[in-house]
Amino acid sequence: MKGDISAEPTAWEDAAHSRTTPTSRPSPVELLLQVGASLHAALVVDSKGWIVWMDPVLAGAAGWRSGPPVGRSMEEVLGGLPWLRHALDEALTGTDGLCEDDEQEPRLSAVVVPVFGEDGMQLGACARLRRSELPRPEATREQLEHERLEESFALLDTLFNHAPVALGFIGRDLRCLRINDALAALHGRRREEDLGRTVREMTPQLAPIIEPLMRQVLDQGTSIIGLNMTEESPATPGEQRHWNVSYYPVRAASGTVLGVGVVVAESTEEYRARAERDRLLREAEEAIRVRDDFLSVAAHELKTPLTPLKLHLQMLKGQADAGHVVAPRHVDKALAQLARLSVLVNDLLDTSRIQAGELELTTEPLPLREFIREVLSEFRGTSALHSLRFEAPDEPLVIRGDRARLAQVLTNLVENAFKYSPTGGTVRVTARRMGTEACVSVKDEGIGIPEEEQAQLFERFFRARNSPISGFGGLGLGLYICRDIIERHGGRIWVESGVGHGATFHFTLPCL
Ligand code: ADP
Repeated sequence: MKGDISAEPTAWEDAAHSRTTPTSRPSPVELLLQVGASLHAALVVDSKGWIVWMDPVLAGAAGWRSGPPVGRSMEEVLGGLPWLRHALDEALTGTDGLCEDDEQEPRLSAVVVPVFGEDGMQLGACARLRRSELPRPEATREQLEHERLEESFALLDTLFNHAPVALGFIGRDLRCLRINDALAALHGRRREEDLGRTVREMTPQLAPIIEPLMRQVLDQGTSIIGLNMTEESPATPGEQRHWNVSYYPVRAASGTVLGVGVVVAESTEEYRARAERDRLLREAEEAIRVRDDFLSVAAHELKTPLTPLKLHLQMLKGQADAGHVVAPRHVDKALAQLARLSVLVNDLLDTSRIQAGELELTTEPLPLREFIREVLSEFRGTSALHSLRFEAPDEPLVIRGDRARLAQVLTNLVENAFKYSPTGGTVRVTARRMGTEACVSVKDEGIGIPEEEQAQLFERFFRARNSPISGFGGLGLGLYICRDIIERHGGRIWVESGVGHGATFHFTLPCL
């Protein structure tokens, strides 16, 4: 056992053998020696307190210098170890026990046991000695404090090295004295690689900004907190990242500034979230503006046909009241205003259906040439300013589509061509094959569309900048509805135009 001060086992064996003969019954002394050997005892006494065996080391510890202790009384030999003598006295009265010396250093303790013969008579006692493993109370306090200090340092070290926030300590010569994993990773290195490097070596691009700030902290002893920096990190090249950087003076107990403590917290996510929030806010504000514009345009558009309608109906009533023949001119004009109103209301209803995903198609095979001719025939004689031409395809093209909805698309495009060509001109409708698709185009010579607005033309409520100025009515829903109908047929719709150079709208449909 650790701390045993008993003699070597071989010494015991010799002692036991020298007094034992294998054939004869062992004497009480031999028995005592055997028990002592088996217990690794350091001291064996007989029933009268005479020493039968004693470890020389123990004899030294007891202060015995007068030759071999065997055969001497324990009172004599154990003068320097009264606590042990006392325990042995107890043991010789048949009581075993644990005793210890609480004065000397190193401290000793002993297990003391009485030894009995076969007839129950006490033969003597043995003491097994060992260093006490209990530390003194003062040593405990010191040791604990030391351990606690070490534990705190280890904890701080671990937290510093592995903190998710980037931390560093830069000396007065602007060299890195300590750096954690997170900060070194920003430089694209491991922390061991950054130790001892200068700020310039660690971040060459940022050094011109950082160095003066660090010098300021060192010279003035004041902190610089919450700087926003945007930079690429060598760890993630090509990506702009955002950081919140603070520099603190690190002082010795005397107040001298030893260096600069650096805290770098990444704010890229917050920055992006803020940018996204701003974008959504702008979009929401834009949507509100569009809605408000739409409401005023819609109110205006719905009201416009009502005034002439009322006028024509009043004329008709006046004629009827006077017993005159009702003028068909007024009837036609009243009906035209009603048709305009129903187009607006239908556009609003279609838009709601599209939004709800409820615009249904009923498809059938449609020979394109005949179908287009039929739709265009509705326009005959509607405009004195415009001429409408149709260039039919050379070959018969058949598509599968919803007759009414495709007629709505073509009508809308031709009406727009008339509407946005206020000074007149020719509107050309063509149909041709484009690979596996049929392509229908409506070309006018009107006001055209600014290039930068063409992408938004098919959005809900969108009206090009140049159309309201020119005073053309409309809700900005027609093209939105056209795109939805064409895309539901598996086709595409787009425009080619330039301001003042007319516009050409194209749409495709898969051929059968
Ligand atoms: P609107 O009822 O306003 O005409 P549309 O959706 O049909 O709605 O058209 C959206 C916008 O596209 C129009 O307000 C106009 O600015 C522009 N636009 C459509 N067709 C033409 C065209 N042929 N020439 C010039 N601008 C056009």
